[in-house]
Amino acid sequence: MNKEACDVIVIGAGSAAFEAAVAARKAGAERVAMLEKAPEAEFGGNARYSGTGFRFVHKGASEIRGFLPDMPQARFDTMRINPYTAQDFHADLARMTQGRMDPKLAEVLVSESNRAVRWMAEAGIKWEPLKEHALVDGKRYFERGIVLHVAGGGPGQLAQWRGIATELGVEIRYESAVCGVIGDMRAVEGVRVAARGRSYELYARAVIACSGGFQANKEMRARYLPGATDFIKVRGTRHDTGEVTRYLLDLGARPAGQWQSGHMSPIDANAPDFEAPQHEDGLGNTQSRYDYPQGISVNALGVRFFDEGEAQHSYTYAKTGRAVLAQPGARAFQIYDRKGVKLFRYPEHAASFEEADTIEDLAEKLGLEPRVLCDTVAKFNAACPDEPAFDPRKPDGRATRGLEIPKSNWARPIDTPPYRALPVTGGITFTFGGVEVNSHAQVMNVADQPIRGLYASGDILGLFFHNYPSFTGQTRNAVFSRLAGEHAARAN
Ligand SMILES: Cc1cc2nc3c(=O)[nH]c(=O)nc-3n(C[C@H](O)[C@H](O)[C@H](O)COP(=O)(O)OP(=O)(O)OC[C@H]3O[C@@H](n4cnc5c(N)ncnc54)[C@H](O)[C@@H]3O)c2cc1C
Repeated sequence: MNKEACDVIVIGAGSAAFEAAVAARKAGAERVAMLEKAPEAEFGGNARYSGTGFRFVHKGASEIRGFLPDMPQARFDTMRINPYTAQDFHADLARMTQGRMDPKLAEVLVSESNRAVRWMAEAGIKWEPLKEHALVDGKRYFERGIVLHVAGGGPGQLAQWRGIATELGVEIRYESAVCGVIGDMRAVEGVRVAARGRSYELYARAVIACSGGFQANKEMRARYLPGATDFIKVRGTRHDTGEVTRYLLDLGARPAGQWQSGHMSPIDANAPDFEAPQHEDGLGNTQSRYDYPQGISVNALGVRFFDEGEAQHSYTYAKTGRAVLAQPGARAFQIYDRKGVKLFRYPEHAASFEEADTIEDLAEKLGLEPRVLCDTVAKFNAACPDEPAFDPRKPDGRATRGLEIPKSNWARPIDTPPYRALPVTGGITFTFGGVEVNSHAQVMNVADQPIRGLYASGDILGLFFHNYPSFTGQTRNAVFSRLAGEHAARAN
């Protein structure tokens, strides 16, 4: 078999991979080669389907201003931005993962988040304010910690990174699947590549695995995830099939994160099985259904099954898809009245729905038992309080009273026709099980030693449990890829 060599190999050409390759190159690695299984037209992994918002520690409006140099001052003045402290980020991670995230890695993620996003900006990445904000009296209120996305969303980020990497002389080899890792649990020397028309071995001082999760692999989903995962829709790329994760485990890498779980969010029940389309502007996915805090959700029996108002969707959406998948037929309906629809942050929800002037007629259209749905809505309406005042900008404490399954915030009666129902199922974004790394992003083995020459970043890391605060994946990529690239460049 042909043998070739370079300094640093990066597996994948998604956002984590570009960040690792650029970091390695900037830290002095001369020959950096990225190996991407997908054809060129499909490179980029999950970022291609994402809006790529970033959650990171910052000091508030004065610091965010520096990321938006071209925005006219009058427009910037409409933005209401609170600081997001290291304590805030730690508290969010601890609450979402039920305290199970490795504290060392949580500290790396939090303490390096600001530096990593600044590093991206210094490398040439441009930023824009998120579309996700509440507009009240002409002011745009942003949630703590989530204010920016990369200009042009996922496709914009990939185009920018590819330009920067190419300029730096990073070589990107498309249609080049890694089909084996050369080494053992002590050290890694290179990879085997199945490229179009040829197979070869590529050797290097360091290998950085950025090959994503295993969510697009049916067999691995069935093996590790609970429930009817054969039928789950994959929100992102179909190329994340987890074989590199398996090679690393076979080598002796230590598994970490929650293998029986993943980021699963509500998605249009009629979405395609893979690669739900992006908006034309690249800012968000047309099939996401995240306005459920403005209404109620019922299953195929017409019964509510989770607290739609537990917190803002950014703190609940990643587990809500799982809740839907656990319902009969893995389906549910989000039910809104006119008041709720008016607050939709995602106008694409208009694309696929049923509407009626009475709940009874809506039930008929959905094929639900009308008496059950009317009873669910009536009981919910009777449990809604008159105060405190409804406030869409933040959890308002307006909670139902006396229901077995409460709605803890934003509880307003569903009483203003027309009534609208959005059919949803669960879509998987990425899996939580992966390999363990140390604070240099070096992969650890089952004997608790770092594997020499082997680094990892992105969804292939085992990091999260139960739930996930929105927009943490991209930050994690930047943090661990920068560390991986810089340490890999110095590996010998
Ligand atoms: C619809 C959607 C919206 C999202 N929105 C956000 C958001 O706004 N903010 C946020 O933080 N996160 C978001 N995410 C999550 C985020 O996009 C992912 O966490 C992130 O893109 C993962 O990056 P990655 O580089 O690890 O993996 P990927 O981007 O999936 O890249 C993995 C790459 O590895 C390649 N590969 C796989 N196997 C091999 C092999 N054997 N050989 C060679 N190459 C291989 C794949 O082709 C792919 O290019 C979103 C995800 C989706 C799907």
